[in-house]
Amino acid sequence: MNTKSRNHAASTLLLALLLPMVGCRQEKNVELPPFDGARALAEVEALVAISPRDAGTSNGWKAARHILQRLKSFDIDAEIDTFTDQTPEGEKTLCNVIGRIPGKTDRWIILGSHFDTMPGIKNFQGANDSGSSTGILLELARMLAESEMVPDVGILFAFFDGEEGIAGYKPGDGLHGSRHLARGLAQSGEAGKIDAMILLDMVGDPDLHIAIPRNSSDNLVKEVLHAAHATGNRSHFSLSRNLAITDDHVPFLKIGIPAIDLIDFRFGSEPGKNDYWHTPADNLGHIEASSLGIAGTVTLQLLEQMACSGTLQ
Ligand SMILES: [Zn+2]
Repeated sequence: MNTKSRNHAASTLLLALLLPMVGCRQEKNVELPPFDGARALAEVEALVAISPRDAGTSNGWKAARHILQRLKSFDIDAEIDTFTDQTPEGEKTLCNVIGRIPGKTDRWIILGSHFDTMPGIKNFQGANDSGSSTGILLELARMLAESEMVPDVGILFAFFDGEEGIAGYKPGDGLHGSRHLARGLAQSGEAGKIDAMILLDMVGDPDLHIAIPRNSSDNLVKEVLHAAHATGNRSHFSLSRNLAITDDHVPFLKIGIPAIDLIDFRFGSEPGKNDYWHTPADNLGHIEASSLGIAGTVTLQLLEQMACSGTLQ
């Protein structure tokens, strides 16, 4: 790995500084309300008002502060984790935003999304890539924080900077934020506390079809398909046995953490086309609340399966 991090100490302490595990706020079973795609869309709209959000730019920092403020407004323990990393354009200072909902045990699930935009595209909103997944994570954070439920397994919300290549995906470019978090967990020995890393990316397409890439962990594929079936959304999910995708879940797979990428990599003018990807057409006019609702509903069910019982139900 040709990246480095001066500031990995912050990540090293990421989990160590957590509050001691608290007991159940309330022992009774708590029924969560349905996931609301319209609320997730409102989060996307607020994020997209800060566009573009290229890594290391003033708007990138503004977007990070916005996400931090949203998490804090839900009364979630959150912080900006600033770090430096080597890119093809030299060393850059970037930042992840981290929020935590502790569970009853010392185990964690990481729920991830990047929030930066692909550089060099005029009038780019990145409403789908990366707004859609960021909006869903924020709405899930709000729901879980406002509920009376304390999960068995803690949820760590990771909003990654620098997923997009700063210089066109040259070697060592892209995935900067996820590599930084994974590196910190590996170096601190805390990677062993992570049950799973669940990544969302490009999940706002009106024609939502999440094709899970083959470089995803088998046990998580099983959990996701179960969650999709249980919520009546199985037709929106499939396995892409021929396609491996380089995305923010990969650094976690590399250090032995089970990980999965929930991505619809066909975002375009017709079903099957991807001609909106990384173009100005990736805008608020081309994502839908109903799709955010599907992806959010399945992710919520997945969390309930994995964080509340630890097994398939
Ligand atoms: Zn992208």
